[in-house]
Amino acid sequence: MNERHHRVLAIGECMVEMAPRADGAYTRNFAGDTFNTAWYMRRLLPEAWSVDYCSAVGEDRISDHMLGFMQKAGIGTDSVLRISGRTVGLYMIELDNGERSFSYWRGQSAAKLLARDREVLSAALAGTDIVLFSGITLAILSEEDRRNLLYALAEARRRGTRVAFDPNMRLRLWPNVAVMCAAVAAAAEVADIVLPSFDEDGQYYGETSPLETIARYRNAGASTIVVKNGVGRIHAEGREEGVVTFDPQPVAQVVDTTAAGDSFNAGFLSARLSGASLGDAIGRGAQVAAQVIGKRGALVDIDV
Ligand code: ADP
Repeated sequence: MNERHHRVLAIGECMVEMAPRADGAYTRNFAGDTFNTAWYMRRLLPEAWSVDYCSAVGEDRISDHMLGFMQKAGIGTDSVLRISGRTVGLYMIELDNGERSFSYWRGQSAAKLLARDREVLSAALAGTDIVLFSGITLAILSEEDRRNLLYALAEARRRGTRVAFDPNMRLRLWPNVAVMCAAVAAAAEVADIVLPSFDEDGQYYGETSPLETIARYRNAGASTIVVKNGVGRIHAEGREEGVVTFDPQPVAQVVDTTAAGDSFNAGFLSARLSGASLGDAIGRGAQVAAQVIGKRGALVDIDV
């Protein structure tokens, strides 16, 4: 098989992260859920695969730096729009006796406009083997642009692109629970692979078992569902494999759980793309996530 033409595309918002250092100064990083997954997938997949990001940034210096950071990491930026008069979103981490809290400045970020043109989206999706988006991707868009995105994804899916979706439910980004759940349900209808976290889906859909979460996404049309659950048992279902469970090895020293789910997704999807079984791919996802939560920050060095 010629592996040259395989392509992964992640769609969403990458932000500037200001993270405190021990001496009180701040370090500037770049991170964001779908971007984190793309970053880890770039590390985990063979060179023959291309990993691209689809988003929007401004035309200012910090937007240039963000694009430079992506390119240096080996991530393609041809599908990142540049929008004049806008800039990138930012969040700041505050440490209070070891507890982390986050403040966001993203109301006017360029990424909110990433789906304003269906044809641009279709062009970005053309020739993509697998595309990943999330509930955060949906949350930052207007209602109309959300429809554009789901339309373009459905069209790409008909042409053979596999669609992966992480519901990543962040209530503060939505007007209320009902609007958030309706958007997640609409997204699930265009997805082949759904990667929820039980602490969110269980809470917002009132589900008491991951098997209920699996059934809901199966009924929406997904063929592979993996329900993450922190250190708890992972429940998954594949159309061919049936139900699979996996108990992650507890991490002795959890340093920072940022990007646990994002890096799990990267390990899982990379393994599936390389032909791994559902159970082996879950194991790979858990192994990557375990490394990530053992270190500080969203993007850390991992053994591949
Ligand atoms: P999210 O970051 O989306 O909330 P989870 O907290 O469910 O996701 O974690 C994603 C994955 O990270 C889990 O499925 C598991 O493999 C791994 N993980 C999370 N917390 C731990 C932990 N304390 N020990 C070991 N693995 C963990």
